[in-house]
Amino acid sequence: MVMFSTTTQMANGTNLHLENLFLSSIQPLTKSISRSKEEVNKAIESAKTAQKLWAKTPLWKRAELLHKAAAILKEHKAPIAECLVKEIAKPAKDAVTEVVRSGDLVSYCAEEGVRVLGEGKFLVSDSFPGNERTKYCLTSKIPLGVVLAIPPFNYPVNLAVSKIAPALISGNSIVLKPPTQGAVAALHMVHCFHLAGFPKGLISCVTGKGSEIGDFLTMHPDVNCISFTGGDTGIAISKKSAMIPLQMELGGKDACIVLEDADLDLVAANIVKGGFSYSGQRCTAVKVALVMKSVADTLVKKINDKVAKLTVGPPEDDCDITPVVTESSANFIEELVKDAKEKGATFCQEYKRKGNLIWPLLLDNVGANMRIAREEPFGPVLPVIRINSVEEGILHCNSSNFGLQGCVFTKDINKAMLVSDAMETGTVQINSAPARGPDHFPFQGLKDSGIGSQGITNSINMMTKVKTTIINLPTPSYTMG
Ligand code: NAP
Repeated sequence: MVMFSTTTQMANGTNLHLENLFLSSIQPLTKSISRSKEEVNKAIESAKTAQKLWAKTPLWKRAELLHKAAAILKEHKAPIAECLVKEIAKPAKDAVTEVVRSGDLVSYCAEEGVRVLGEGKFLVSDSFPGNERTKYCLTSKIPLGVVLAIPPFNYPVNLAVSKIAPALISGNSIVLKPPTQGAVAALHMVHCFHLAGFPKGLISCVTGKGSEIGDFLTMHPDVNCISFTGGDTGIAISKKSAMIPLQMELGGKDACIVLEDADLDLVAANIVKGGFSYSGQRCTAVKVALVMKSVADTLVKKINDKVAKLTVGPPEDDCDITPVVTESSANFIEELVKDAKEKGATFCQEYKRKGNLIWPLLLDNVGANMRIAREEPFGPVLPVIRINSVEEGILHCNSSNFGLQGCVFTKDINKAMLVSDAMETGTVQINSAPARGPDHFPFQGLKDSGIGSQGITNSINMMTKVKTTIINLPTPSYTMG
């Protein structure tokens, strides 16, 4: 087994020289832009060639290989999770969960794929006015070609396989551009697919900074589909790419509306878990709590009691709050905190930062004029806005340029449904914090939060085209007999 090593920047700002744990053949592309272009071209060319044969591989065989890859991925959960801990400061247990969940996603996708792709439609012409039964129409789903998958740093394994598995089962090839932080974990994950025996060239991983190789990749004429998860970069990509299907999962400012009759213990538990898990670096983190004034004092106290119990420290110790991914992320969060301070927010805890490590902070009495009320901090800082009515909460939520998820806490299902209908978001959770998954549920954002819908079945449909074959009869079929 050839040892492989690479240097990656860790979330605490230091460089990590990671001796590879089980890789045998993957080589990362170089950082130099000209060489990267050559290597990107080579990867896309191989993917294009390999896809032609792969599309002709029986569906059951594709599924069999995916099941194998899922098993290998789970077998290697420990070393891959270790990369996640070191590269992106993911708490140790969450890192293992990410890998295991990814294996389950791959298996589910294999099973769903054989069903979704294994059947088509049959239509007859005389169901449309003015037609006789002279045509039979058969539909099937065919692959798009080369799918470019670009996941973000916060789930470099799970949000990569959520693109890779539906692409492969559908007969596409994959070029993966992993996030710079998270690339080593992603390379290990891709290697699991190689170990499973997928054909050479079918799955390539091109590393390099998005700012350097991104445009070249996303505007490449041989890329037939882009599945992207990340921030505003996705909006820029959608403006540059032309005539190819896009799946864009972008940022969010998920609001949690708390009504007077809510179970406040349940709300506090959900807000703390939803707002502070992985230090708030989740697209579906609770990013603003909109709380009815009459229950705000009680709820804020309950939340603070829980925040006080959060552990803060290194990911290896499985702390609740770990360093945020980069110094620039930490600086951005600090800007939002300073702005809130200047504009009069109530600090429930003292603001504390050491390097990239920011202690959990609840900001009460936040006003709509504060940046933290509207912007996505992607860190362990949660604003509370006190509202006079549910309409005020919905108005705040809907004035956002984001529309990923939202949630409402109430014991009244009628009110919950009214709020759900009124919220301009891709998903509304009733009595639970926003969350992605289970991974077969549809997942989508409105407005600047995305294009298209994810979830295993939706991704398979998105990564295929409908093809029709029409059988024409010389005379209407019912003229015989
Ligand atoms: P990001 O900065 O937009 O980066 C996302 C990915 O795009 C990375 O792989 C990045 O590579 C790459 N990239 C950067 N510039 C590019 C370019 N010009 N062309 C092509 N690719 C480029 O986002 P992030 O900081 O990794 O992730 C945090 C964001 O993702 C948050 O806004 C969060 O809400 C969002 N997110 C959304 C979902 C969802 O499902 N809606 C899920 C998770 C996260 P480099 O690392 O090399 O820059």
